[in-house]
Amino acid sequence: MPLKLSIVTAQRTVMERADVTKLVVPAAEGQITLLPSHAALMTALGSGEMLATHAGGTEPIAVHGGFLQIVDDEVSVLADAAEHVAQIDLERAEAARARAEARLTGRDTSIPPGGLDVLRAQASLQRSMVRITIVRRRRATGVPSARP
Ligand code: ATP
Repeated sequence: MPLKLSIVTAQRTVMERADVTKLVVPAAEGQITLLPSHAALMTALGSGEMLATHAGGTEPIAVHGGFLQIVDDEVSVLADAAEHVAQIDLERAEAARARAEARLTGRDTSIPPGGLDVLRAQASLQRSMVRITIVRRRRATGVPSARP
C-alpha cells in the first residue's frame, strides 16, 4: 500500500497525496527514506529538500523545521514553513539570502554592534539556500514541476 502524505503548515496545506511510493525526508539528524510498511516513527525536521515519489514522478518540496510522524503508512508533516518547488519565488529567496549574508558578514550597517541575532540570520540563510537550490536543480534537469 502506498504512503498517504499530508504536509501542512500553520497557514496552509502544502500537499495531500495518497499514492506516494517513496519519501526522502530532511530529518534533523540527517536524511531518511520512508517506504511503505515503515515502522512507526516520529522525527524532528531540519531545513532541506523533501522528495515525494509517485507514479507521475518526483515532487521536490522545501521544508523548514517541524515534525514528521509515520504510522500505518500515513505520513503527517507539520512544518514551520514548506513550499512545493512550483511555489518557490526565486527572486524572493535570492533577496533573503543577500540580506542574511549582509548581516552575517557585517555589511549591514543598520545593525548596531552586538545587535545581530546570529542564529536567526543563519537559519534565514539556510532557508533561502534550500529554496534556491531546489529551484535551480529543478530548472537544470528541465523536468516540469507538477503542482501539488
Ligand atoms: P523572507 O525574508 O523572504 O520572508 P523567510 O525565510 O524569512 O523569507 P519564512 O519565515 O521561512 O520566510 O516564511 C514565511 C512564509 O513565506 C512561509 O509561508 C513560507 O512558505 C513563505 N516563503 C518564504 N520565502 C518564500 C519564497 N522564496 N517563495 C515562496 N514562499 C516563500
